Amino acid sequence: MTASNRDDEKLKSEIRLRFHQLGQRFTQEREALLAVLLTTDRALTPQELYEAAQKSETVGLTTAYRIIETLTRIGFAQVILINGELRYRLCSPTHHHHMVCTQCQKVEEFAECQLEGLDYGSFHPTSHRVEIFGLCEQCQKGSS
Ligand SMILES: [Zn+2]
Ligand SMILES: [Zn+2]
Ligand SMILES: [Zn+2]
Repeated sequence: MTASNRDDEKLKSEIRLRFHQLGQRFTQEREALLAVLLTTDRALTPQELYEAAQKSETVGLTTAYRIIETLTRIGFAQVILINGELRYRLCSPTHHHHMVCTQCQKVEEFAECQLEGLDYGSFHPTSHRVEIFGLCEQCQKGSS
């Protein structure tokens, strides 16, 4: 399984453009929150996002929740349930699946999809999500 890395610069400019189209200004606050999301491989809780962004800029917890909500709605972030907690990760807008480390919450994307051509009978599938849970390379080393 090959992990595809996000093109962060491209992602960032696409996100700016979408926010602009939505009439949402890219404030210093939002900039700081987005910078955190762009520089981590981990899926974060809104609280974690808020705390990390707080180090460089005064942000509100409500703003953290709101940017996550907007990013998820426009398809640039996804929610992943890890050990009973809702976490969010910045995502490529193209179709992909996730490998999720349940120990450090690192999430890798992979684009290979074997589900499109399957026979679903009379059911008409419109979308799907795949999350493979396990331990990343680093966490495997750490626990052995
Ligand atoms: Zn993703
Ligand atoms: Zn890990
Ligand atoms: Zn797929």
